[in-house]
Amino acid sequence: MKVKLILLTLMAGAAVFYCCQGASSAGDAALASMPEAQALGSFSADSAFSHISTQVAMGPRIAGTPTAARCAEYISGRLAAYGADTVIKQNARVITYTGQTLPITNVLGRFNSGAKRRVLLLAHYDTRPWADHENDSSLRYEPIDGANDGGSGVGVLLEIARNLGIKPSDVGVDILFVDAEDYGTHAEEEVFGASDDENWCLGTQKWVTDMPYDPDHRPVYGILLDMVGGRDAVFHREYFSNRDASVYVDKIWAEAKALGYEDVFINKIGGNVIDDHVYVTRAGIPTVDIIENTNRQTSSFPPTWHTLSDNLENIDKNTLQRVGNTVLNVIYKEKG
Ligand SMILES: [Zn+2]
Repeated sequence: MKVKLILLTLMAGAAVFYCCQGASSAGDAALASMPEAQALGSFSADSAFSHISTQVAMGPRIAGTPTAARCAEYISGRLAAYGADTVIKQNARVITYTGQTLPITNVLGRFNSGAKRRVLLLAHYDTRPWADHENDSSLRYEPIDGANDGGSGVGVLLEIARNLGIKPSDVGVDILFVDAEDYGTHAEEEVFGASDDENWCLGTQKWVTDMPYDPDHRPVYGILLDMVGGRDAVFHREYFSNRDASVYVDKIWAEAKALGYEDVFINKIGGNVIDDHVYVTRAGIPTVDIIENTNRQTSSFPPTWHTLSDNLENIDKNTLQRVGNTVLNVIYKEKG
């Protein structure tokens, strides 16, 4: 994924406005330190972490490679083991910005498939082919581990799947793992002034052309998890999510606050990110991107983003736990 820099200056005004509207009193802050809600599932950060470690041990899961195919097998195997009603694989071909054709696979696991009202959860499992944001220019074509960017979303969603297998939700849940999110233009090959937005999220762009839903049975909304395992990660209300799916952003951020995580799920508008949620929203399922924005002022990505430091050492189980508890609570409170 990438930040859409062009709009950042426009957003600055909106961010300040939102910030001032949302200012809370000292009394609110004292109350917020006491969690009002309990975790409704039994989300294990250790289990989520072990899925990340398994993925990293496979090597870089670059779209179109045998390792990515092995990762798709691992995901579908876990979904079946955790009791998904069905596991659907969508095999397709996509064309990258260099003109290369890649075979890709998206994997969908359906839980409580009889429920009419459904929620979609998704994450990308492919990893960035290049560390194009490394300081050392000689390393910028090396592949990355993608422990956070790729691994963490998958780890949290598989642990959510395990929970849904043990304790079914009232609402139907579709969990989608997409390929080829992170094959967008290498930072050193970008052409100034040209939009390369469509070079990202290739797997999702393919999925939305052939979704297994008729218009009356689409998920009501979606939640995308991307970079949800970083150290001391904080999550702002990502700009496009806030614009197109604000009622669901409200729901998720309120649940996080009730769990005592309001210093992590910051109730302020963040940067605008070209990510899978943009295409799912465009396809008629308003989708929220829970994505790390470390810097509270500029909402920028964490320093490990698209570098060789995006490795297991920089995964924080506390972050996995907070995101897992929050999303599971949202799901368990939905009526089918
Ligand atoms: Zn990425």
